[in-house]
Amino acid sequence: HEDGPGPVLEVSGLDVHYGRGRKRRRALHGVTLDIAPGEAVGVIGETGSGKSTLARTVLGLVPTSAGSIRIAGEDVSGYGPRQWRDLRRRGVIQYVFQDPLRSLDPDLTIEDSLVEPLLIQGVRREEAALRARSFLDRVHLTTDLLARLPGELSGGQRQRVSVARALVTGARLVILDEPVSALDSANRVQVLEILKELRASGVALVFISHDLGSVAGTADRIAVLHQGELVETGTAH
Ligand code: ATP
Ligand code: MG
Repeated sequence: HEDGPGPVLEVSGLDVHYGRGRKRRRALHGVTLDIAPGEAVGVIGETGSGKSTLARTVLGLVPTSAGSIRIAGEDVSGYGPRQWRDLRRRGVIQYVFQDPLRSLDPDLTIEDSLVEPLLIQGVRREEAALRARSFLDRVHLTTDLLARLPGELSGGQRQRVSVARALVTGARLVILDEPVSALDSANRVQVLEILKELRASGVALVFISHDLGSVAGTADRIAVLHQGELVETGTAH
């Protein structure tokens, strides 16, 4: 993927609804957010404010009812499920979900989860396996986990594997929904350090958390979601 000069993510006037008929409820309203290459934006807000909905929408997993989304200059608003899947599999956009089990395929070994996106990008298997090991090392996991399935890991191990998976592809935009919520404080510090290194290397991050403390040191800007609306943005420092 080309490194254009423009924003890596442009969200404009986004509305999202869940349900239909009398059960139709608005989850996001008029959300507008631009992220430049290498910029880290923290999105905070109380439970139910729409943070995960914003993450899922930007990943093409929830349909929009108004507004537009551009990713790396591509207008993805009219994309169908296959085009979205291609975008994610090519590694243009990567993610760590709030529930780390959902970030990982339950039937793939940890090694295959890390290697698969690289094979799709045309990396040779041996090289892909080497890179997978080095990223596991970066999140301080031991290589004996490679042969295991996600269900055989602890919540914190899974969360770190899903961070490693998001990094291994070299994506320009990584969406992280509560990436440190299941970690103890030592591991939390380590993962936050990795996120800082990534930002320094030019990767754009959307870092979602209900906890201002964990995003404040990592994000350049903070956006606050309140009842589906982005009410305030400012610098974190
Ligand atoms: P938390 O901090 O608890 O993770 P959140 O900010 O991520 O909360 P969302 O999961 O985005 O909140 O939910 C926003 C609103 O949309 C809530 O009112 C929620 O009940 C509703 N909602 C979320 N997912 C669905 C769904 N699949 N179907 C219907 N309503 C949903
Ligand atoms: Mg959430």
